[in-house]
Amino acid sequence: MSKLTIADEAHRRRTFAIIAHPDAGKTTLTEHILLAGGAVRAAGAVKARGDNRRARSDWMKIEKERGISVTASVMTFEHDGKMFNLLDTPGHEDFSEDTYRTLTAADCAIMVLDAAKGIEPQTLKLFEVCRLRNIPIITFINKLDREAQDPMALLDEVASRLQLDPAPIWWPAGSGTRLRGLVEVGTGRFQPYAKKIAGSTDDAEHPAALPLTDAAQYFEQGEQDEVAEAVELVEAGYPAFDRQSFLEGHLTPVLWGSALRHFGIEDLLRAIGEWAPAPKVMPARKEAPPETRNAPAPEAIEVDPGQNEVTGFVFKVQANMDPNHRDRIAMFRMASGSFKRGMKLKVQNTGKQLSVNAPIMFFASDRELAEEAYAGDVIGIPNHGVLRVGDSLSESGLVRFAGLPNFAPEILQRVRVKDPLKAKHLKKALEGLAEEGVTQLFRPEIGADFIVGAVGQLQFEVMADRLGEEYGLDVLFEPSPYAEARWVGGDKADLEDFAGKYRPQMAFDIDQNPVFLAKSSWETGYVGERFPKVTFSKTLERG
Ligand code: GDP
Repeated sequence: MSKLTIADEAHRRRTFAIIAHPDAGKTTLTEHILLAGGAVRAAGAVKARGDNRRARSDWMKIEKERGISVTASVMTFEHDGKMFNLLDTPGHEDFSEDTYRTLTAADCAIMVLDAAKGIEPQTLKLFEVCRLRNIPIITFINKLDREAQDPMALLDEVASRLQLDPAPIWWPAGSGTRLRGLVEVGTGRFQPYAKKIAGSTDDAEHPAALPLTDAAQYFEQGEQDEVAEAVELVEAGYPAFDRQSFLEGHLTPVLWGSALRHFGIEDLLRAIGEWAPAPKVMPARKEAPPETRNAPAPEAIEVDPGQNEVTGFVFKVQANMDPNHRDRIAMFRMASGSFKRGMKLKVQNTGKQLSVNAPIMFFASDRELAEEAYAGDVIGIPNHGVLRVGDSLSESGLVRFAGLPNFAPEILQRVRVKDPLKAKHLKKALEGLAEEGVTQLFRPEIGADFIVGAVGQLQFEVMADRLGEEYGLDVLFEPSPYAEARWVGGDKADLEDFAGKYRPQMAFDIDQNPVFLAKSSWETGYVGERFPKVTFSKTLERG
């Protein structure tokens, strides 16, 4: 039995996500981190697991046909006295909204860059979300076994484009066929690179580290001096690692390696264990129970991960893989307390109580049923549509976390059901999918049509597929006259003045928040200038 206190348990948790532009190597790195953590025995396991998952979600044909995984989950493993929760984010850019939500459950992010490409568009987008949420970032520059850009140019790109101070922990000696190894900045320790066969179980072993000055055997003429000089420049020119500055989001430690060749991975895992933050104290509100009349104003509170009461929030709802049962699995990120299987938790906004008898924990190895969990952990709670993205759960049912963002969709379409008798049915189905966070739903103030918004085209296909399979609805998507959606805010009088002039373009989201549907981005700019007292937001924090 564990003798650790609740606070100790929280303190040894590291909950992190990997962010990357597609193809930078996120899947490969995930696999090799699990390998380094002892969570899987052979390379290839993550892929196999992915295949498995795909086989189970056969009903979602798109997933299969396109060979992509559209669901995000979490992998938990214990290593070196710490519990790691690696949040898996879908790679396809059409599902970036899922990725954004997953980041709300992460305490730290690993930013993977392709050494030949540097910062790519998706890297930048994801980075911005991390910054918005003050998530500290560890940078891993991958694919050193291929010809890379100049390492200083890569660091300078991080500094200039992300406004983030790079603190190189290691320095690469060459790349591609001339990759000799990595030199530790500050100590001059040299880790030789040895090309090992990818996927073999012994690829974790590289020759032992030694002082760079003793490492002549690993270099060709002139290379050793060259790297020694480069490291001197680096030591003088870049800041040393400073944990406080990293935690505050000003500085990123930079590590290098090759996920595919399992090079630099142990150091990355050690960096996560030592530097990534444990779950933090989270701001929240204590609300009156939903049925209270003349309820007092909510009270601002701080939720300490070590406190007794279990609290947390749902950051994702995954439809169950079985189409015959309309079960959903809510991914619940714990913010505090000591969870035990069978515990009763209450949903803050509805007051509904759930007995969590069959929580799922996602161990990278075989264990599945969660007996206990602590702050930082993610458990899957099966339910029949009671739980929604953004819901707060706690033992008292009074704790509310805010801040799960909705992002303005980039594509807006009108949806119709082919059989007009099923229009009512369509409304329910669309609301269900919107509650799950698959797509966003806007109900114009005037007219009976629904406008559906998504970040990418693929989401509409997933949606059409699910409406057919799960709800028996044959739907049509048609172009809508709208290009952008903006949540509007401001003084009541100003808002009414604006809405009065743009009534046909006003709509409500599923939480009844007012939304302006603009016909072009030009129009968004125009109304912004004409109505300076009204705010037009691209994101909305629920709660
Ligand atoms: P993701 O889209 O970010 O998940 O990227 P993947 O992990 O699927 O990798 C994309 C491609 O890059 C695959 O063909 C990988 O084998 C390859 N790759 C990943 N890491 C490395 C690496 O360190 N070196 C080399 N040479 N290729 C890599």
